[in-house]
This record gives sequence, structure tokens and C-alpha cells, in this order.
Amino acid sequence: MHELSLVMNLLEICEAEAIRRGFERIDRVVLEVGVLSGVSVSALTFGFESAVRGTVLEFAELEIREIPGTGWCLHCEETVPLVEPFRSCPGCGASGVLPTGGTEFRLCELIVSDNRAGGHSVQGGG
Ligand SMILES: [Zn+2]
Repeated sequence: MHELSLVMNLLEICEAEAIRRGFERIDRVVLEVGVLSGVSVSALTFGFESAVRGTVLEFAELEIREIPGTGWCLHCEETVPLVEPFRSCPGCGASGVLPTGGTEFRLCELIVSDNRAGGHSVQGGG
């Protein structure tokens, strides 16, 4: 399952970050998931819940921000909304709309409200 490998990846990043910064648990994870990324939010949530037991993410709340899809229509020469990849242009019906937004999957924030850490967030990229 594709989403499970994403969760495992995420888990690795979070554990490495926890070790590096010396916290034992993470309170909240914020992910940005583009609607064109091919990632199923429900599969991701399910994978997260089953994979995090006994890890720094065990008690973490998962927040998923869905990023709307956009594409560039060569025919209209403008940005159009895209609800799924390889969809034709909603304006003119031409195919071959190039996805320009909503294809991302990234870790946006890790929020830790540990007394020792005093509550801080980590901005992640990539
Ligand atoms: Zn068009």
C-alpha cells in the first residue's frame, strides 16, 4: 500500500527529529496533501493509526490539509481547477492540462507541547 510507505517515511523523519531535539512524543503532525498527489487521505489516516503505536507519534493528532488541484490549459492559456490528474479542461474540454498545483505531499509541521521543550513547532520542507 502506497500510503503506508508514506507513513513509514513520515515516521522515520519524526523519530529522527525527536531524537535530535530530545522530545519523547509529538502532539500534532500537519501534512499537506494535494488532491492530485494520488494519496488517499482515508488510507493515509488508516495507515497512520495502525503504524504509530509505540512510536513518538502514538498520541499525535494527524491534521491533513488538502491542497486543491490546479492545472494549466494550453488551449485556454490559463490556470484552471483540476479535481483529478489527466482530467480535461473544465473550460474548453481540451485534454492535456498540465498539473501545476495540488501534486504535493509534504510534512508541514510537527507540534510538540512538551513542558521541557516549552512548546515549539518545527517547520519541515520537501
Ligand atoms: Zn481549456
